[in-house]
Amino acid sequence: MGDPNVEELSQRVIQARRRAIEEKKQRLKQALEELDELEKSRKESEKPRRVSESDPEARVMMQSDGGFAPSYNVQISTEASNKIIVAVGVTQEGTDYNQLADGIDRVKANTGTRPDQMVVDGGFVKNENIETAAAQGVDLFAPVAETDPEGSLRRRGIRPEFYPDKFRYDEAANTFRCPAEKTLTLRRTHDREGRIDYHYRAERADCAACPFRSQCCPKTSPRWVVRKEDSETVKAFRAKMETEQAKQIYRRRAEVAEFPNAWIKEKLGLRQFRLRGVGKVGLEAIWACLTYNIQQWIRISWRPKFAAAA
Ligand code: SF4
Repeated sequence: MGDPNVEELSQRVIQARRRAIEEKKQRLKQALEELDELEKSRKESEKPRRVSESDPEARVMMQSDGGFAPSYNVQISTEASNKIIVAVGVTQEGTDYNQLADGIDRVKANTGTRPDQMVVDGGFVKNENIETAAAQGVDLFAPVAETDPEGSLRRRGIRPEFYPDKFRYDEAANTFRCPAEKTLTLRRTHDREGRIDYHYRAERADCAACPFRSQCCPKTSPRWVVRKEDSETVKAFRAKMETEQAKQIYRRRAEVAEFPNAWIKEKLGLRQFRLRGVGKVGLEAIWACLTYNIQQWIRISWRPKFAAAA
């Protein structure tokens, strides 16, 4: 006859293993469901996305070292005068492009008012966000987005002598003249938030017979040229960001925004979440931010009193 204590222990071990297997099966099932959802919404984003088996709600995101790992995108809003965190949110999106409006809403929900000014990095910059901030009365400061049209032109095999700036725009006729003196006429417009794209196209027969075709439109003929027209709000934003005053305000971003992040990582050692799932990770992030805020409160209100007493 075996020892009943040993038998009981082995029964418990077996049950614990069964539970662990069940939990893992559950996580894998959830991961497959999340993957299915992502596949369904894939058209919304051209980027391939993956889910993690250990935390199905996490998303594989690019890290600061250039690698990829299952992560959450934590959005922290910090007020500038005392560096107090006023809002925090956690999302599954790998980029910040769509986070500005939610950030403004969180600040309003927590403080009762929208920020007068908001300083964000280039990851938030798109015309739609500039429009959103302006519509809500928030003065936005951010670097003007640098696009790389030359990269796209190179990929299309277009020679520099046939880049769009070599096409002359005739405002009165609303047409372009190409380097071979042929006319490109307006074919369609694309109305985006904060910008209208006007697409002009050359005549098919002109490009087919053109001696410059292999340099001007080697892959897609006939040739298209796009004229982009920013809205008045976006133009005003760009003009503002050219001023020295705006540049000075933007320069403070690193000090205000990076400090809480660095403090939470260095002092609290929060480089990896201990919990799983958006909800629990959000709670962990809130606790970290509260801890940071208490430390700031001590620094701001108590230390001067201690110093005076001493
Ligand atoms: S390929 Fe077409 S658009 Fe380009 S230069 Fe020739 S005619 Fe003009």
